[in-house]
Amino acid sequence: MHSFTLCLALLAGGQASYGPLDGLKILKAADTQDHPGTPAPAGAVVLFDGKSTEAFQHRDGKSPIGWKVTPEGFLEVKGGDIVTKEKFSTPMHLHVEFRVPYMPKASGQGRGNSGVYVQGRYEVQVLDSYGLDSKDNDCGGIYGVAKPLVNACKAPTVWQAYDIDFTPPVFEGGKKVKEGVITVKQNGVTIHDQQKITKDNTTAGLGGNPAEGGPILLQDHGNPVQYRNIWVVKKTKAAADGGNAREEKLAGNPGSTVTPAGFLDRGNDEGMIRRVKDRIEDRSQNLLGKLRNRLRGR
Ligand code: MG
Repeated sequence: MHSFTLCLALLAGGQASYGPLDGLKILKAADTQDHPGTPAPAGAVVLFDGKSTEAFQHRDGKSPIGWKVTPEGFLEVKGGDIVTKEKFSTPMHLHVEFRVPYMPKASGQGRGNSGVYVQGRYEVQVLDSYGLDSKDNDCGGIYGVAKPLVNACKAPTVWQAYDIDFTPPVFEGGKKVKEGVITVKQNGVTIHDQQKITKDNTTAGLGGNPAEGGPILLQDHGNPVQYRNIWVVKKTKAAADGGNAREEKLAGNPGSTVTPAGFLDRGNDEGMIRRVKDRIEDRSQNLLGKLRNRLRGR
């Protein structure tokens, strides 16, 4: 079955394969190790978990989805862009895992191209840009807006992950008063930090009114790129980019951690536990004192 899938990939992608990386110069051993898979946490909107394409529809809203779930549970590009049925308008944390095929005979934008469009408009590029000096149209680039801070790509055929924190632009009376902001980690490395999105629609995006929400779009650029765990955690405005949680952490809870969704996890905060204990003890001493005084007064 695997060789059958491989044949399909070869037909679809022109010598694209998930086989051995013959002839590729590997820069460091970790580049050939899959980034660990991260299933959706509790409370997340699950978009793909290896089983069904139910959360998606064809970009045109009517044609059937050509993308198939492989026997291994991977979602493979075929037959046009797909978009989530749900539209997202709040700040969000989007997690997407992907891998690009090895296409040694292809180059540039023709080598393992796909893309993750937040709100259907802002593309975080997916491409085989392994070892390159990345531009804004390379893997991890906000297409045509900003190049990644560093090239954090793994080798082709190796699983990678995007963790995207996105805050939509703000409009008042139909006028944009604040640009959308995006922070992206690729394989745990920050490749965009609070990057302002200066365009209302990147190349081949859905466009539409940027004051309104939009779906997550996954691009078909003719190459059999594969996806696995895809999920979204919607955030409140206050929790966006971890703002409040980070402030609270800095204000005196050094043992706490900030979750990917921007919430404060006090799980390991011994300082806070100690303070609460102290407060309870103070209060009970206080009550005991009052009780003693009352009994004395009788
Ligand atoms: Mg693309």
